[in-house]
Amino acid sequence: MENNFSKYINSEIFKVVSAQAGELGFETYVIGGYVRDLILERPSKDIDIVTIGNGIKLAKQVAQKLNRNIRVNIFKNFGTAQFKYNDIEIEFVGARKESYRKDSRKPVVEDGTVEDDQNRRDFTINALAISLNANNFGALIDPFGGVEDLNRKIIRTPLDPDITFDDDPLRMMRGIRFATQLKFKIEKKTLDAITRNCERISIVSKERIVDELNKIMMSEKPSVGFKLMDNTGLLELIMPEVAALKGVDVVDGVGHKDNFMHTLKVLDRIVPSTQNLWLRWAALFHDVAKPLTKKYVDGLGWTFHGHNYVGSKIIPRIFRRVKLPLNDKMKFVQKMVNLHMRPIVLSEEEVTDSAVRRLLFEAGDDIDELMTLCEADITSKNEVKVKQYLSNFKLVREKLKEIEEKDAVRNFQPPVKGEEIMEVFGLKPCHEVGIIKNAIKEAILDGEIHNNHEEAYEFMLKKADELGLKLVGA
Ligand code: ATP
Repeated sequence: MENNFSKYINSEIFKVVSAQAGELGFETYVIGGYVRDLILERPSKDIDIVTIGNGIKLAKQVAQKLNRNIRVNIFKNFGTAQFKYNDIEIEFVGARKESYRKDSRKPVVEDGTVEDDQNRRDFTINALAISLNANNFGALIDPFGGVEDLNRKIIRTPLDPDITFDDDPLRMMRGIRFATQLKFKIEKKTLDAITRNCERISIVSKERIVDELNKIMMSEKPSVGFKLMDNTGLLELIMPEVAALKGVDVVDGVGHKDNFMHTLKVLDRIVPSTQNLWLRWAALFHDVAKPLTKKYVDGLGWTFHGHNYVGSKIIPRIFRRVKLPLNDKMKFVQKMVNLHMRPIVLSEEEVTDSAVRRLLFEAGDDIDELMTLCEADITSKNEVKVKQYLSNFKLVREKLKEIEEKDAVRNFQPPVKGEEIMEVFGLKPCHEVGIIKNAIKEAILDGEIHNNHEEAYEFMLKKADELGLKLVGA
């Protein structure tokens, strides 16, 4: 392959960096992920510039030349500076040489050459640099065969993988994430080293691990990452609840499906239908309580009674431990896990208005996502069954639309409020008010009355009469 890459870096920004670095007398390169993505023709918004000199000084001078109003963010402690230009983030850093201590991901850092800087990179495909120096502008510096690995689609560490992963175990997750995102294979020696070093993941912060997991989740085929994590032992350490889905028990010759493989299928199946990260997490966790609820019942076979409910209760524990957010996103995942059986059960019976109304009431605005999850959950190999489920779902979706138009229960607001009930019957807050409110809600969900004030008011009067309540002034 041609190793002059000047055609890739003929934009204004690189010309300005080159000229300013020349003026300062600093040898300078564009390096790392940006070069990788350039060659792979992937979009990339971060440019890393490494200089054998003062990165902060170079950044300031380049920014000044590009546009006097650019604000340069300076990180003195790290010797780096960064600014945004036309939506692109550009980071400048002095070339570094690193050495590691056993108990930390944080290396001891000294000034170094561009080779030293390439040596500290995690994978050969991330260690590529292109010269921005006038004497060889555009020359590719590829000491570890990174371009060949890009062509062969291989993830491989530049140095001994045991040392690379021992020094910074986050790289194990990065390697698996790159393999998943780029659809690359991890070279055997590198993969074996991840297996050998998997326990070292314990020194990596949860936030960094979750960043990688989220990137795996947002890839086209997240199952690749989860299988690699499983094969190397990382899954058991990071998410034992998901690893526990593996395996098949057999009693009296009757087995159940492997819930890990099923889960990964559901996860991959949901990808084309949603960019919602949290719906993808819900797909991963939808059956997470199956191992806990699994029971063999004579005559019935394997049952997982209440696994949806138990699953929704386990979610906060997992989110807290792995440092996923404990907010409305988590609540959404819990809701999806809890309700994921409902549309299936519904579509197995006659699709009645009141069942659909109840589903709509419970799922609220998340109903479309719930249906998407349920459709992804149909992984049967029996094509007749699959067709039947999907056409039943179509019916459920049509009914959902029809009922929502008619009864508006998606974001249910009681048509008669508690204050009105108290006023009409001269009550203080009490048990009876709750009974009436609930009865009105149930009557609407059952289709006994429509969701409007007039019918709800009439119903309230009837219910109050049954409870022996008298109207004020009566
Ligand atoms: P992405 O932008 O998809 O996260 P990237 O490789 O560009 O991928 P960054 O985290 O921005 O990711 O890293 C930029 C470069 O810094 C990498 O290409 C790699 O050369 C180097 N790098 C980042 N993290 C590490 C690490 N933990 N160990 C060694 N080198 C690293």
